[in-house]
Amino acid sequence: MKTRTVANITTAEELQMGKTLVKQPLPTQNVPRVDPFLLLHHFGPTEVAPGSDPLDVGPHPHRGFEPVTFLYSGGIKHHDSRGNTGILAGGDVQWMTAGMGIIHSERASEAFLEEGGTMDGIQLWVNLPAEHKMVQPRYQDIKSKDIPAIRQDGENVEVRVVAGEFQGLKGPVQTYTPVLALQVGLQEGHRVELPLPENFNALAYVLNGAIQLNDNWNYEAGQMMEFRQDGEGIVLKSMQGAVDILVLAGEPLNEPISQYGPFVMNTQSEIMEAMRDYQMGKMGFYVEE
Ligand code: MN
Repeated sequence: MKTRTVANITTAEELQMGKTLVKQPLPTQNVPRVDPFLLLHHFGPTEVAPGSDPLDVGPHPHRGFEPVTFLYSGGIKHHDSRGNTGILAGGDVQWMTAGMGIIHSERASEAFLEEGGTMDGIQLWVNLPAEHKMVQPRYQDIKSKDIPAIRQDGENVEVRVVAGEFQGLKGPVQTYTPVLALQVGLQEGHRVELPLPENFNALAYVLNGAIQLNDNWNYEAGQMMEFRQDGEGIVLKSMQGAVDILVLAGEPLNEPISQYGPFVMNTQSEIMEAMRDYQMGKMGFYVEE
C-alpha cells in the first residue's frame, strides 16, 4: 500500500473549559480546519470522585453542523430544547445533527455522578453541506455493542467502524456528507494498515501512548496528523502501551464558512439570522428536567 504523507502536525493546545482541561488539536493557527472537520476537543482522561461533574456544560445553542461525542470512558447525559434526553456510557457514540438549531446541555450522567471514575472522550464538529444546514435536528445515539469492529492479531488490533464503510463493515451512523470514522485500538507493538478513500481529506488523533506512522515517524498523545491525498492509506503501530487513535476521513465540502461561536454557516448574513433565531426562540426553549 502506498501510504499518505503528513501535510500538517498539530499538538493540542490545552484550554480550561469550566472544570475540565480540554486538548484542542483542531482548529489551530496552522490548521484552521480539515474540511469537513471543524473542531476536535479531547476532554480527559480526568479522574473524578463521586458527586463531581467534570463537564457541567449548561444549555447552549448549535446550528449548521454536527456535534459528535465519542465517549471512551465515563458517563454523559445530554438534554435539549427538543425534549430529548440521551445517556452515553463508555464506548458509546452520539452523532447529533444540530441542523437548523438546537439548545442542549452536556453533563455527567447520574450513574457517573454516583460512582465517579474516569471521564475521557472526544467531541468532534462535522460541517454540514449548505443544502443541509437547515435540516431538522437529529440524534443518533449509538451503543458501544452496536458498533461493528474488525479484530486482528487476537484482540490486539481493533478497528471500530462508527461511520462509513471499512473492509466490508458498515458503520451504524448516517451522515449528510460522506465520512469515515474509525476508532482504532492497538496493543503495544501491534500494527494495522488502514486504506482510506482517495478523494477524502483525512486526519488521525492520538489519545494516549505513542505511535509510529507509516513505519517511519513517531507521534505521541495529543498530536494530530493531517494527511495529503497522495496515497492509498496509512499504517499505525503502537510504540508505547495500549493506544487509542481516532481516524477521520471525509469528502471535502469546499464551501465558504462563516462561523460565530456555536453557529457555522456559509455567509455572515446567515450568522446574523442564526443569532436572531436563537434569541427569538426558533431553536426551541431549553427546560431543565
Ligand atoms: Mn454542545
